[in-house]
Amino acid sequence: MAEKTVFTPDVKFVRELKEAGADTMKKCYQCATCSVVCQLSPDDRPFPRKEMLMAQWGLKDELVKSADIWLCHNCNDCSKYCPRGARPGDVLAILRKSVIQENAFPKFMGKIVGDPKNIWQALAIPVVFFLLVLGVTGHLGIPEGEVVFSKLFPIHYIDQIFGPLSVLAVVMFGVSISRFWKNLSEGSQMKPKAGFLPSFIETLKEIMTHSKFKKCDENQDRSIAHMLVFYGFIGLFVTTLCAILFLYGLKWESPYPVDDPDILALFGGSETMVWILKVTFKLLANVSSLALLAGGGLIIANRLKERGVDTVTSSFDWVFVGMVLLVGASGMLAQMFRVMNFPPVIAYLTYFLHLVFVFYIIIYVPYSKLAHFVYRTVAITYTKMLKRDIEV
Ligand code: SF4
Ligand code: SF4
Repeated sequence: MAEKTVFTPDVKFVRELKEAGADTMKKCYQCATCSVVCQLSPDDRPFPRKEMLMAQWGLKDELVKSADIWLCHNCNDCSKYCPRGARPGDVLAILRKSVIQENAFPKFMGKIVGDPKNIWQALAIPVVFFLLVLGVTGHLGIPEGEVVFSKLFPIHYIDQIFGPLSVLAVVMFGVSISRFWKNLSEGSQMKPKAGFLPSFIETLKEIMTHSKFKKCDENQDRSIAHMLVFYGFIGLFVTTLCAILFLYGLKWESPYPVDDPDILALFGGSETMVWILKVTFKLLANVSSLALLAGGGLIIANRLKERGVDTVTSSFDWVFVGMVLLVGASGMLAQMFRVMNFPPVIAYLTYFLHLVFVFYIIIYVPYSKLAHFVYRTVAITYTKMLKRDIEV
C-alpha cells in the first residue's frame, strides 16, 4: 500500500495571511496559468500554483521550508494573467514576509517590524532610546547659538550607538539566516549536486546584473526601479564604510580639508589627489542618494499605475519605500534648515527624526523588506546547489 502523507492545515496561519492582505488566494481554482506564464518557474514542480494551494491550506511548515517562493521576483506577470484575480505574485510576496517573521530572532522584533500596523511601535523604540541617551548625557534640549547638529548629538555618540547596535543586528541576522538555511535543507527532497562557493558566485552575478528580473514580460520597468534602489544602497553602504575609514583610520574629519597635512603626506603631498578622492567620495554619496530616491519614486509610480492593486498586500513594501524616502528627505531638509538659518527647533527636530529613520533602515535590517535581499541570495544559492533553478 502506498505511504500516506498527512498534512495538518494551520488555520491561524491562513488567518494571518489573509490579514496581511493575501485574502485573494481563496479565489485560486488551480488552473495553473500562473505557473505557465512565469518565466522564472522551473519545469519540474513549477511555482506559484502549488504555493497558492499550500497557502489556502495553511501549510506553514512546508512554506517556511520552501526555496521556490524566493525564486519569484514579484514581477506580477502571473497576477496579470490569473483568470480569477488571485494575485499569486502578491501572495508569494506575503509568504516571503511571513518566512522572514518566522525565522526572525528575536521573534517579537519580526512581529513589530514585519507588521505595518506596528509601525508606530517600531519608530517609538529609537525615539525613546535617543531621548534616554540625550537625557542621561545632559543634551536634552535645544542647543543655543548657531545650528550645529553635533551640539545636540556629538558624532561619537552616534558612532557609539550605531556601532554596537549594528553589530548586534548582524548577529541577530546571522541567527535568523542559519535557521532559514536549516529549514531549506529540511524541506528539500533533493541532495545538493554543486558546491556552495560556485553556486554563491553564480548567484551574485545573477543578482548584480538583475538577469532574472529582466526575463519578466509585463513588468520590465520594475527591474530598472529595483536596480536603482539596489545600487543606491550599495553606493551608500560603500560611502558609509569610507566615512568610517576616514574618521577612525585616517583621522580625517568632514568636511575633509584638502590641505590636511596627514592626508597630504599619505598622497605624497599632492593636493590634486586628495581633492580627487574627496570629490569621488562626495559624488558617490550624492549619486547613490539620487539613485535611491529615483528608484523609490519609480517603485511608487509603478505601484500606483498597477490596476487593481491591493493596498494591504503591498503595505509592507510601502512602509519600507516610505522609510527610504523619509531618510533621504529628512537628511536633505535638515541640511537645508541649518544652512538657511531656520529656527533651531525645526532644524534640530528634523535632524532627530532623520536619525530615527536611519535607525529604522539600518538596525531593523534583519526584519524589514531589506532582509529579503539576503534571504533571496541564500535561497537562490541553495537552489543552484540543487541544480533546480532555471538557466538565464
Ligand atoms: S493563482 Fe490564478 S492563475 Fe494561478 S492557479 Fe490559481 S487561479 Fe490559476
Ligand atoms: S510574480 Fe513574476 S516571478 Fe513571481 S511567480 Fe509571478 S510571474 Fe513568476
